[in-house]
Amino acid sequence: YQRDRSSLLAAHELTAKLYHHLLNNTEFGIEAKDYLRSRGLTDKLIDHFMIGYAPERWDTLTNFLSRREYDLELMERGGLLLPKNDGSGHVDRFRGRIMFPLWDREGKVIGFAGRLMGEGQPKYLNSPETILFNKSKSLYHFHHARQEIKKSGKLVLFEGYMDVIKAWDAGVRNGVATMGTSLTEEHVEIIRRAAQEVVVCYDGDKAGQAAALKTIPMLEKAGLKTSVAVLPQGLDPDDYIKDKGPEAFIREVMSQPVSPLKFRLIYSRKSHTMVEEEGRKNYVIEAVRLIAQHDSAIEREFYLKELSLEFDISLDTLKQNCHQVREQMQKNKSNGDNNAFSWNNGMNEKRR
Ligand code: ATP
Ligand code: MN
Ligand code: MN
Ligand code: MN
Repeated sequence: YQRDRSSLLAAHELTAKLYHHLLNNTEFGIEAKDYLRSRGLTDKLIDHFMIGYAPERWDTLTNFLSRREYDLELMERGGLLLPKNDGSGHVDRFRGRIMFPLWDREGKVIGFAGRLMGEGQPKYLNSPETILFNKSKSLYHFHHARQEIKKSGKLVLFEGYMDVIKAWDAGVRNGVATMGTSLTEEHVEIIRRAAQEVVVCYDGDKAGQAAALKTIPMLEKAGLKTSVAVLPQGLDPDDYIKDKGPEAFIREVMSQPVSPLKFRLIYSRKSHTMVEEEGRKNYVIEAVRLIAQHDSAIEREFYLKELSLEFDISLDTLKQNCHQVREQMQKNKSNGDNNAFSWNNGMNEKRR
């Protein structure tokens, strides 16, 4: 097992170098290089993240590894190669894709994510689960972000590789991302050991915001101070930086995180039509319910006051209603029904 591991690690390291070389120094990489430039990636970034290109061919890596006398069966189990359909040998797993090496905590390459340049499915092809790579325990770029995370006690959680890369370039040195999964309890444990505070910065689309709603309570439950950096509708961090520039991203997004409660209120608000009386009423009712979840009396009063001002409803009425909701929650709790008033009821859409 140890022999297999070290052989696979060596193969991954070499493979990353091969793809990086093909991108930078050969004609195979020309189109890919243009693509990366068009997405705002400089040579410096491409080097730091060891980004590469896997040519649109069946045998580039297979030949490369076989010439170096790697056990191709092992390379197949390691997710680098695929068996040929007729069982007569191997072909490359990644073809015609921009290649992002994935590292473990020590900075060893343990897998890859390959992105298509154009449309097509899947957009990202990841290494499968192998003896090296376990996606539910891996955080992209953690090995480099770690230092800043330790120093500041703070970690920024993004959705995608490109977000980590572009944010790193903008100066966010403590950013990581999950790798094609939602956050798992294992991730939370890794984060908890490294940081006291997490800023969730997911995409400003429905999927991203719904994912943030699921992520927040996991972090809070682990005792992590949590806040949310909210992006405008439809933009992800990488789009935002491209459209508005790195300084605006730091100033408008990273420097203005909101509390989880505020985020829930913003989210809830979007699902109501505020131009209609009925929508406004329903929003207020839901908002009070959300506020009632919170144990801090100060925070409750703060947001109730905001509601009271905005919707011209007396603070007393809102407080009374909030109190009722809390009493109902207590009752449900003692009946063993913990979830009756859970703020994310019905919003637990499964993500990917
Ligand atoms: P890009 O900017 O290159 O389009 P993105 O990061 O914005 O990529 P999203 O669609 O927002 O892509 O997805 C977020 C993350 O989810 C990706 O970075 C990747 O880790 C993962 N992901 C997306 N699509 C797939 C897929 N088809 N298979 C596996 N993982 C995926
Ligand atoms: Mn997304
Ligand atoms: Mn995205
Ligand atoms: Mn993106």
